[in-house]
Amino acid sequence: MGLGRTAAIVIGSFPLGESDRVVTFYSREHGKIRGVARAARRIRSRFGGALELFTQGELVFFDTGRSDLLRIDHFDIVRPFNRVRESLDALGHAAWIAECVTRLTADHDRHPALYGLLARSLRALDGAARPARVAVCFGARGLDVLGHRPRLDACVDCGRAWPFPRPALGAGGLACEPCARAAGDALPISPGAVTALDRLRALAWEEALGIPLGRLEAELGGLLEAQMSRLIGQPTRASRFVREVGRLQPTSGGRS
Ligand SMILES: [Zn+2]
Repeated sequence: MGLGRTAAIVIGSFPLGESDRVVTFYSREHGKIRGVARAARRIRSRFGGALELFTQGELVFFDTGRSDLLRIDHFDIVRPFNRVRESLDALGHAAWIAECVTRLTADHDRHPALYGLLARSLRALDGAARPARVAVCFGARGLDVLGHRPRLDACVDCGRAWPFPRPALGAGGLACEPCARAAGDALPISPGAVTALDRLRALAWEEALGIPLGRLEAELGGLLEAQMSRLIGQPTRASRFVREVGRLQPTSGGRS
Protein backbone atom coordinates (compact mmCIF):
# COMPACT_ATOMS: atom_id res chain seq x y z
CA MET A 1 0.00 0.00 0.00
CA GLY A 2 2.89 2.38 0.80
CA LEU A 3 2.32 6.05 1.45
CA GLY A 4 -1.25 7.23 1.97
CA ARG A 5 -3.04 10.50 2.63
CA THR A 6 -6.60 11.05 3.86
CA ALA A 7 -8.83 13.37 5.85
CA ALA A 8 -9.24 11.78 9.30
CA ILE A 9 -10.52 12.32 12.84
CA VAL A 10 -8.79 11.08 16.02
CA ILE A 11 -11.24 8.73 17.79
CA GLY A 12 -8.94 7.07 20.31
CA SER A 13 -5.36 6.65 21.50
CA PHE A 14 -3.20 5.00 24.12
CA PRO A 15 0.48 5.25 25.12
CA LEU A 16 2.97 2.73 23.77
CA GLY A 17 6.38 2.16 25.36
CA GLU A 18 8.37 5.16 26.59
CA SER A 19 7.32 7.89 24.22
CA ASP A 20 5.12 6.57 21.41
CA ARG A 21 1.38 6.62 21.00
CA VAL A 22 -1.04 4.30 19.18
CA VAL A 23 -3.76 6.42 17.60
CA THR A 24 -7.09 5.29 16.11
CA PHE A 25 -8.49 7.46 13.33
CA TYR A 26 -11.74 7.36 11.45
CA SER A 27 -10.72 8.38 7.96
CA ARG A 28 -12.67 9.38 4.87
CA GLU A 29 -10.74 7.16 2.47
CA HIS A 30 -9.91 4.08 4.56
CA GLY A 31 -12.50 3.95 7.38
CA LYS A 32 -11.06 3.03 10.78
CA ILE A 33 -7.27 2.85 10.83
CA ARG A 34 -4.70 2.60 13.62
CA GLY A 35 -1.14 3.74 13.61
CA VAL A 36 1.92 4.42 15.72
CA ALA A 37 3.00 8.03 16.21
CA ARG A 38 6.69 7.75 17.12
CA ALA A 39 7.88 10.05 19.92
CA ALA A 40 4.40 11.63 20.09
CA ARG A 41 4.66 11.92 23.88
CA ARG A 42 7.98 13.80 23.89
CA ILE A 43 7.68 17.48 24.83
CA ARG A 44 9.09 18.65 21.50
CA SER A 45 7.07 16.16 19.46
CA ARG A 46 6.59 17.11 15.83
CA PHE A 47 2.91 16.24 16.31
CA GLY A 48 2.47 18.95 18.97
CA GLY A 49 -1.16 18.83 20.17
CA ALA A 50 -2.45 17.55 16.83
CA LEU A 51 -3.28 14.06 18.09
CA GLU A 52 -5.80 15.23 20.74
CA LEU A 53 -9.04 13.26 20.78
CA PHE A 54 -11.64 14.46 18.20
CA THR A 55 -9.17 16.56 16.18
CA GLN A 56 -9.91 16.58 12.45
CA GLY A 57 -6.96 16.82 10.12
CA GLU A 58 -5.02 15.61 7.09
CA LEU A 59 -3.23 12.36 7.83
CA VAL A 60 -0.14 11.14 6.01
CA PHE A 61 0.77 7.54 6.85
CA PHE A 62 2.95 4.70 5.63
CA ASP A 63 1.67 1.14 5.40
CA THR A 64 4.57 -1.31 5.65
CA GLY A 65 2.23 -4.24 4.92
CA ARG A 66 3.87 -6.17 7.79
CA SER A 67 1.53 -5.07 10.59
CA ASP A 68 -2.04 -3.90 11.23
CA LEU A 69 -0.48 -0.72 12.60
CA LEU A 70 0.42 2.02 10.15
CA ARG A 71 3.28 4.45 10.64
CA ILE A 72 1.88 7.93 11.20
CA ASP A 73 4.10 10.42 9.40
CA HIS A 74 2.13 13.69 9.66
CA PHE A 75 -1.19 14.86 11.00
CA ASP A 76 -2.00 18.48 10.13
CA ILE A 77 -4.92 20.00 12.04
CA VAL A 78 -7.87 21.19 9.95
CA ARG A 79 -10.33 21.67 12.84
CA PRO A 80 -9.16 21.16 16.43
CA PHE A 81 -12.74 21.06 17.88
CA ASN A 82 -11.33 22.42 21.17
CA ARG A 83 -14.73 23.20 22.67
CA VAL A 84 -15.74 19.55 22.51
CA ARG A 85 -13.05 18.80 25.13
CA GLU A 86 -13.84 21.84 27.30
CA SER A 87 -17.27 20.77 28.62
CA LEU A 88 -17.99 17.42 30.29
CA ASP A 89 -21.42 17.32 28.65
CA ALA A 90 -20.02 17.75 25.11
CA LEU A 91 -17.09 15.43 25.87
CA GLY A 92 -19.39 12.65 27.13
CA HIS A 93 -21.66 12.77 24.09
CA ALA A 94 -18.67 12.98 21.71
CA ALA A 95 -17.21 9.92 23.47
CA TRP A 96 -20.50 8.06 22.92
CA ILE A 97 -20.45 8.93 19.20
CA ALA A 98 -16.78 7.89 18.87
CA GLU A 99 -17.47 4.63 20.74
CA CYS A 100 -20.35 3.75 18.37
CA VAL A 101 -18.10 4.43 15.36
CA THR A 102 -15.16 2.47 16.85
CA ARG A 103 -17.13 -0.58 17.91
CA LEU A 104 -19.48 -0.86 14.92
CA THR A 105 -16.91 -0.60 12.13
CA ALA A 106 -14.10 -2.88 10.95
CA ASP A 107 -10.56 -1.69 10.18
CA HIS A 108 -10.05 -0.41 6.61
CA ASP A 109 -13.78 -0.58 5.84
CA ARG A 110 -14.28 2.61 3.80
CA HIS A 111 -17.49 4.48 4.62
CA PRO A 112 -17.42 8.15 3.58
CA ALA A 113 -21.05 8.78 4.69
CA LEU A 114 -20.18 7.72 8.24
CA TYR A 115 -17.07 9.92 8.15
CA GLY A 116 -19.27 12.85 7.06
CA LEU A 117 -21.77 12.19 9.86
CA LEU A 118 -18.99 12.00 12.47
CA ALA A 119 -17.46 15.28 11.24
CA ARG A 120 -20.87 17.05 11.22
CA SER A 121 -21.61 15.80 14.73
CA LEU A 122 -18.28 17.09 16.11
CA ARG A 123 -18.80 20.44 14.37
CA ALA A 124 -22.22 20.72 16.05
CA LEU A 125 -20.76 19.77 19.47
CA ASP A 126 -18.05 22.42 18.93
CA GLY A 127 -20.77 25.02 18.20
CA ALA A 128 -23.98 26.06 19.92
CA ALA A 129 -25.99 22.81 19.63
CA ARG A 130 -26.97 20.96 22.81
CA PRO A 131 -24.79 17.86 23.18
CA ALA A 132 -27.69 15.51 23.99
CA ARG A 133 -29.45 16.59 20.79
CA VAL A 134 -26.32 16.07 18.69
CA ALA A 135 -26.02 12.51 20.05
CA VAL A 136 -29.69 11.79 19.24
CA CYS A 137 -29.28 13.14 15.68
CA PHE A 138 -26.07 11.11 15.24
CA GLY A 139 -27.79 7.97 16.60
CA ALA A 140 -30.88 8.31 14.40
CA ARG A 141 -28.77 8.79 11.25
CA GLY A 142 -25.91 6.53 12.29
CA LEU A 143 -28.21 3.49 12.39
CA ASP A 144 -29.26 4.26 8.80
CA VAL A 145 -25.71 4.83 7.60
CA LEU A 146 -24.50 1.60 9.24
CA GLY A 147 -27.29 -0.36 7.53
CA HIS A 148 -29.47 -0.90 10.63
CA ARG A 149 -32.32 1.55 9.93
CA PRO A 150 -35.20 0.59 12.27
CA ARG A 151 -38.50 0.06 10.47
CA LEU A 152 -41.15 2.51 11.74
CA ASP A 153 -44.13 1.95 9.41
CA ALA A 154 -45.26 -1.48 10.66
CA CYS A 155 -44.57 -4.18 13.24
CA VAL A 156 -41.38 -5.92 12.08
CA ASP A 157 -42.66 -9.34 13.16
CA CYS A 158 -46.31 -9.57 12.05
CA GLY A 159 -46.47 -6.67 9.58
CA ARG A 160 -49.34 -4.88 11.34
CA ALA A 161 -49.37 -1.30 10.06
CA TRP A 162 -48.42 1.54 12.43
CA PRO A 163 -50.15 3.10 14.42
CA PHE A 164 -51.10 0.48 17.01
CA PRO A 165 -51.43 0.68 20.83
CA ARG A 166 -48.44 0.29 23.20
CA PRO A 167 -45.64 0.13 20.60
CA ALA A 168 -42.13 -1.13 21.41
CA LEU A 169 -38.81 -0.70 19.63
CA GLY A 170 -36.72 -3.83 18.98
CA ALA A 171 -33.64 -4.64 16.91
CA GLY A 172 -35.26 -4.24 13.48
CA GLY A 173 -37.82 -1.58 14.36
CA LEU A 174 -41.32 -1.26 15.81
CA ALA A 175 -43.11 -4.20 17.40
CA CYS A 176 -46.78 -4.43 18.37
CA GLU A 177 -47.61 -5.47 21.92
CA PRO A 178 -48.10 -9.26 21.36
CA CYS A 179 -44.96 -9.51 19.17
CA ALA A 180 -42.92 -7.44 21.64
CA ARG A 181 -44.03 -9.69 24.49
CA ALA A 182 -43.05 -12.79 22.49
CA ALA A 183 -39.64 -11.36 21.48
CA GLY A 184 -38.85 -10.11 24.97
CA ASP A 185 -36.08 -7.61 24.18
CA ALA A 186 -38.04 -4.67 22.69
CA LEU A 187 -38.36 -1.50 24.79
CA PRO A 188 -41.55 0.57 25.12
CA ILE A 189 -41.57 3.68 22.92
CA SER A 190 -44.13 6.50 23.10
CA PRO A 191 -46.12 7.31 19.92
CA GLY A 192 -44.58 10.81 20.05
CA ALA A 193 -41.08 9.36 20.00
CA VAL A 194 -41.93 7.19 16.95
CA THR A 195 -42.97 10.34 15.06
CA ALA A 196 -39.95 12.31 16.32
CA LEU A 197 -37.47 9.57 15.30
CA ASP A 198 -39.01 9.43 11.84
CA ARG A 199 -38.75 13.23 11.49
CA LEU A 200 -35.16 13.41 12.80
CA ARG A 201 -33.88 11.11 10.07
CA ALA A 202 -35.90 12.84 7.31
CA LEU A 203 -35.10 16.48 8.14
CA ALA A 204 -32.01 18.39 6.99
CA TRP A 205 -29.21 18.15 9.60
CA GLU A 206 -29.50 21.75 10.88
CA GLU A 207 -33.29 21.46 11.19
CA ALA A 208 -32.98 18.17 13.07
CA LEU A 209 -30.63 19.88 15.55
CA GLY A 210 -33.15 22.68 16.13
CA ILE A 211 -36.70 21.25 16.28
CA PRO A 212 -38.31 21.31 19.75
CA LEU A 213 -38.54 17.81 21.25
CA GLY A 214 -39.08 18.43 24.98
CA ARG A 215 -38.79 15.23 26.97
CA LEU A 216 -38.89 13.07 23.82
CA GLU A 217 -35.20 13.91 23.42
CA ALA A 218 -34.23 12.04 26.59
CA GLU A 219 -36.53 9.13 25.64
CA LEU A 220 -34.90 8.90 22.20
CA GLY A 221 -31.42 9.15 23.74
CA GLY A 222 -32.16 6.06 25.86
CA LEU A 223 -33.72 4.14 22.98
CA LEU A 224 -30.85 4.90 20.59
CA GLU A 225 -28.32 3.79 23.21
CA ALA A 226 -30.33 0.54 23.47
CA GLN A 227 -30.22 0.08 19.65
CA MET A 228 -26.45 0.70 19.57
CA SER A 229 -25.86 -1.62 22.59
CA ARG A 230 -27.76 -4.41 20.84
CA LEU A 231 -25.53 -4.06 17.78
CA ILE A 232 -22.34 -3.86 19.86
CA GLY A 233 -23.42 -6.71 22.15
CA GLN A 234 -23.12 -4.75 25.42
CA PRO A 235 -23.94 -1.26 26.80
CA THR A 236 -21.57 1.49 25.74
CA ARG A 237 -19.02 2.70 28.31
CA ALA A 238 -19.65 6.32 27.33
CA SER A 239 -23.38 6.16 28.17
CA ARG A 240 -22.50 5.55 31.82
CA PHE A 241 -20.18 8.57 31.78
CA VAL A 242 -22.95 10.71 30.22
CA ARG A 243 -25.40 9.64 32.95
CA GLU A 244 -22.88 10.50 35.69
CA VAL A 245 -22.25 13.94 34.16
CA GLY A 246 -26.04 14.44 33.99
CA ARG A 247 -26.32 13.75 37.70
CA LEU A 248 -23.56 16.29 38.46
CA GLN A 249 -25.05 18.93 36.14
CA PRO A 250 -28.82 18.43 36.37
CA THR A 251 -29.51 21.59 34.32
CA SER A 252 -27.84 20.07 31.23
CA GLY A 253 -30.72 17.63 30.61
CA GLY A 254 -34.45 18.05 30.16
CA ARG A 255 -34.53 21.31 28.17
CA SER A 256 -35.41 21.30 24.50
ZN1 LIG B 1 -46.67 -7.61 15.57
